[in-house]
Amino acid sequence: MVSMRNCFAMTVVALALVAKVSQGIFLEEVKVVKKIPTTHKVVALTVDDGPHYKTTPDLLKVLKEKNVKVTMFVLGQNVKEHPELVAQAAQDGHEIATHAYTHNPLTKMSQAECAAELDKTEAILKKIEIKPHLFRPPGGLYNDAVIKEADKHSYTTVLWSVDPKDWQRPSVEKVVNTVTTTVEPGSIVLLHDGQYPLPTIIDNLRANGYTFVTISELLEYYEVRETGLFSYLNYQKILLN
Ligand SMILES: [Zn+2]
Repeated sequence: MVSMRNCFAMTVVALALVAKVSQGIFLEEVKVVKKIPTTHKVVALTVDDGPHYKTTPDLLKVLKEKNVKVTMFVLGQNVKEHPELVAQAAQDGHEIATHAYTHNPLTKMSQAECAAELDKTEAILKKIEIKPHLFRPPGGLYNDAVIKEADKHSYTTVLWSVDPKDWQRPSVEKVVNTVTTTVEPGSIVLLHDGQYPLPTIIDNLRANGYTFVTISELLEYYEVRETGLFSYLNYQKILLN
């Protein structure tokens, strides 16, 4: 006869399997990272489209003064022009990630053209001893073919959860306001090289208790929250022990 205790044990094993499988499927489906679920007040600032000979030196200076590390999604064609700026950024502790080569939409390219965009950028970064692990498609535009190509390169595709649309050149006040009021724990902020009031954004977020991390650091904060099912399983484990 199956005891009540064994019955409980079998139920727990079955539910644990279901939970494991659903978690696996869930993680499989996360193909593009926009935000990290976390209770820690961490935020990642990302700076796109650089390097630029005029703005990047100022950007690096400000970040050094404020002691903030960001993630820079650089364009291969710009790295080719100023590899020394990217090397400096990496030396300063910023994370260097790929934004493809030309900034043309990858979704409108053939698989081979898309692959070439990523390969060319990777080859140029390799010359300054940088191997990117993160990728942001230009314009945030992607489809299955683009994701497949990113997977082939072992890139994690990263978009954003906060966009002050700084490239449209709104007022300084508006950019600062959008970022300050919409950032949450685990947010990824989209900024562009040279087009935003960075010191004020940093000061405001710090005043609100936020710590700045790179995207790779942010990924370490990923928390799988306890759902009803997980709580139930933990409760059963307590009962059995
Ligand atoms: Zn861009």
